[in-house]
Amino acid sequence: MNISENIKAFKSELPESITLVAVSKTKPVSDIMEAYNEGHRIFGENKIQEMAAKWEEMPADVQWHMIGHVQRNKVKYMAEFVSLVHAVDSFKLLTEINKQAAKYYRTINCLLQIKIAEEDSKFGMSADAAKELLESSEYQNLKNIRVTGLMGMATFTDNMEQVRREFRYLKNLYDELKDPHSFTELSMGMSGDFKIALEEGSTMVRVGSAIFGERNYG
Ligand SMILES: *Cc1c(COP(=O)(O)O)cnc(C)c1O
Repeated sequence: MNISENIKAFKSELPESITLVAVSKTKPVSDIMEAYNEGHRIFGENKIQEMAAKWEEMPADVQWHMIGHVQRNKVKYMAEFVSLVHAVDSFKLLTEINKQAAKYYRTINCLLQIKIAEEDSKFGMSADAAKELLESSEYQNLKNIRVTGLMGMATFTDNMEQVRREFRYLKNLYDELKDPHSFTELSMGMSGDFKIALEEGSTMVRVGSAIFGERNYG
């Protein structure tokens, strides 16, 4: 796997308006530095402690995105530095992120994860729950977080029509909420489905294996 070549290819092929999150979970800092040395700065991790360890080792201008499911008791380990939390799926979690962000006088940007997969979806909120959250006064009182958009994961399937349908559902919800809530980010698309996600209106793709190679969970 030639990480520099892969990063270069993505940077030249993706439209400028699209944000590339290079998903570096399980990969060593030496791999991430290869992408960094190509000028890439946005990296995604799915475990908070792994991300915090890499944050300490890597240059300070990296923007760290937490893309995985977040356990509330670990928010404190990333509050100082995380730049976007993709998978917020409850008001309780948002409250904890707000509380920890306040300790560092920060405002942390968050995305609400919406359950879009027709199959195998463990995490995410329903569209109704997301709307209810955004309209609540409790949400509006949280001063140290900002919900800047939505995130979703399509079903893991070869049925690309199903994947497209799920992304389209999320884009429709995003469009409905975008203006009233000043949304700027729609995080959808991974190595296997980012092309479809872009066709369906994604603004941010999370690409791991197509940049860094297959992950080894040994
Ligand atoms: C691992 C992961 C990705 C990247 O997956 P690839 O198929 O390797 O591109 C994207 N999003 C989330 C939430 C992930 O956990």
